[in-house]
Amino acid sequence: MLELRNYIDGKWVDAEGNRRTEDRNPATGEVIASVPVSSKKDVAHAIDVAHRTFQQWRKVPAPKRAEILFRVGTLLQERKEDLARKMTREMGKVLLEARGDVQEGIDMAFYMAGEGRRAFGYTTPAELPNKFAMALRDPIGVAGIITPWNFPMAIPTWKTFPAIVLGNTVVFKPASDTPLLALELVKIFEEAGLPPGVVNLVFGSGSEAGEVLLEDPRVSLISFTGSNEVGRHVASRAGEGLKRISLELGGKNAISVMDDADLDLAIDGIVWSAFGTTGQRCTACSRLIAHEAIYDELRDRLAARVGKLRLGDGLLETTDVGPVINAGAAKRIDEYVGIGRAEGATLVVGGGIATDGDLAKGSFYRPTLFADVRPDMRIAKEEIFGPVLSMIKVRDFDEAIAVNNSVAYGLSSAIFTQDVNRVFRAMRDLESGLLYVNAGTIGAEIHLPFGGTKGTGNGHREAGTAALDFFTEWKAVYVDYSGTLQRAQIDS
Ligand code: NAD
Repeated sequence: MLELRNYIDGKWVDAEGNRRTEDRNPATGEVIASVPVSSKKDVAHAIDVAHRTFQQWRKVPAPKRAEILFRVGTLLQERKEDLARKMTREMGKVLLEARGDVQEGIDMAFYMAGEGRRAFGYTTPAELPNKFAMALRDPIGVAGIITPWNFPMAIPTWKTFPAIVLGNTVVFKPASDTPLLALELVKIFEEAGLPPGVVNLVFGSGSEAGEVLLEDPRVSLISFTGSNEVGRHVASRAGEGLKRISLELGGKNAISVMDDADLDLAIDGIVWSAFGTTGQRCTACSRLIAHEAIYDELRDRLAARVGKLRLGDGLLETTDVGPVINAGAAKRIDEYVGIGRAEGATLVVGGGIATDGDLAKGSFYRPTLFADVRPDMRIAKEEIFGPVLSMIKVRDFDEAIAVNNSVAYGLSSAIFTQDVNRVFRAMRDLESGLLYVNAGTIGAEIHLPFGGTKGTGNGHREAGTAALDFFTEWKAVYVDYSGTLQRAQIDS
């Protein structure tokens, strides 16, 4: 069995007391690796190293930092297939999607490496003669990076790549369910020639290892992706220390299908968005808002499609939908299905933990479609994070917009319509950070800002140039070459 180690100051080290836990394949139950459980002291040591290294790393010219990131991108490309297979084994998503997850990391490496020769600031006129004004981007310090398990390569790359190319150092605590992919990424940093101490990896629980990142005053930034519950705790705990905090949290994303929609296209988009990654994407579609004129047809055609989805190990070509992340998740999803039934929704297809044949070895949930869901039901409001889709009937476009916006989250929305006026009204009125027209709710590209409104986060965005604003601090610089005292706002 693989024995993973922390990576601190360029060395692979055991956690204090050599405490360990297991990393399991959710499709088969097989143990993949033994994983360190870091103590508070281990994490404090990693922070100490990152804090010291920052003073050297911030002075390395950004194009040189970027050269390392270009090498990281090339190594990711070379290992794409191997990494994708490891990902499927570790967290279950089907191989096709695991390849996409690694590809996001490759795209992000080349995009962010380009920032090594940009990271644009600006010059601007000064109000006094013989005076020069400019705004520069400064690195900030140690970034504490805390990630979930559902995009075990993409999300760590969205955070670590901009952090380091812009001159920050990192302590990275990945999700307990996906340590292997985190280790593979850090191995690539090492092979690409990243100096010791720039990226440090600590495995362990959120409540023990993660907590230290929130509390330690030497950590200046917290970049967190995960659930709302933990996100609120992160915000308050790290907020006490006045850290800069980026929160990417849950979603309750909806696709609206209007009476003029291309239904074949809509059904493809809905199935892909609701059941891809077993419904465990933050952008997964979990509400389907359908115009009353096409509601029955859409329900019946979807039921036929959903009923045919094949559950199984994501490494098998015959599998459409892989396992959920663990047995606890399957149980939680099943509780929500029970809540939906009790609330009076109609279970059209699916429902229940799947235990036939080999499925019994893993954690599988039957792709599930509910109809007759009302917007005020819990299954229409709360994030389920599994393969469960709830259909809500609306009379018209305006009601669709209102229902879309009636939840506490605002990550991704989609609309299927052929009417250009409705498209532009949807662009104006849908409350979400991502909006898709005639496509499902998933499929973000890395050079655009990524994140959500309302309860999905705290207003920051990842990816694209928006990431630069989180990982740098603006410094306004005034150079007075008049040789006299010139007082802004006073001397004319
Ligand atoms: P989670 O909140 O349980 O865990 C996320 C990370 O936080 C893990 O690394 C965990 O160990 C750590 N953590 C837990 N308690 C902590 C504490 N007290 N202090 C510091 N760190 C702590 O989330 P999860 O189950 O891994 O991921 C699923 C959630 O992530 C879903 O809600 C999903 O919507 C969300 N998500 C959001 C986005 C987005 O960009 N908006 C993307 C992917 C996933």
